[in-house]
Amino acid sequence: MLVDSHCHLDQLPCPMGALTAAAAAGVKRVVAVSEDPESIHAVLHLQRQAPAQVYPGLGLHPAWISRSTPAQIEAALELLDRKLSQAAVLGEAGLDHKWAVTVAERQYQSDILDQQLTLAERYGKPVALHSRRCLRQTMDRAIAFRERTGLQAQLHWFTHSRKLVRRCNEAGIFVSVGPTLIGHPPTQSVVQEIADDLLLLETDAPVRVNGRTGHPAHTRDVAQAVADLKAYNIDAVAALTTGNIARFLGWDATADVPGRSDVTTGRGVA
Ligand SMILES: [Zn+2]
Repeated sequence: MLVDSHCHLDQLPCPMGALTAAAAAGVKRVVAVSEDPESIHAVLHLQRQAPAQVYPGLGLHPAWISRSTPAQIEAALELLDRKLSQAAVLGEAGLDHKWAVTVAERQYQSDILDQQLTLAERYGKPVALHSRRCLRQTMDRAIAFRERTGLQAQLHWFTHSRKLVRRCNEAGIFVSVGPTLIGHPPTQSVVQEIADDLLLLETDAPVRVNGRTGHPAHTRDVAQAVADLKAYNIDAVAALTTGNIARFLGWDATADVPGRSDVTTGRGVA
């Protein structure tokens, strides 16, 4: 079994059809992350439609923070507080310096991330973090969160720096790898550095990579690329990364529907 650890399932033209196609490719579960109030509701709706396949990530994306009013953000944080107990993970949250340019804008984004991390701690949820043009700052937040709470953290699409990945390995931070790995030696050299027990697979679908619109079924192609890179077979990559996401989300990896009860009770296993 493969798991797509980061997918914007609600943004695909036909999410339920995508789940069927993904399952046919061996991708049996998808962490469906959200970005804003609308997608928080959409992701929870998808989870009700396909509870064995969809694991909701509820969070506010830093790009959305940067284009929203304080009143919209306050309402969204209240929504998150009401709904987070139903989530598998808090995300997609994080920092994005493409959309926050001034010191004040960056501080504001950072403050809202703090409030989301406080909610994750309150509800005992792991966090999935986005980072753009501020890799070290985001990584430092993930490490501090993990050290303070004992909860898990994932840096998604964090395949730009071998040095930062080594720091994640030391701190026990999960790093997810997407389709940019395929045929791209600089990314491959970073992925080589990720500790086996912290490696997750993702697609970030429907984001386009190499001219192809993302789809959760492409998790299989990412798994194959990891297998080629590390000289494992794809079954070994599937077993490894599924065990990892089970640890990240606090699933019982042996259950038919892993950790459905754990999803609501919270705290990930160590
Ligand atoms: Zn994303």
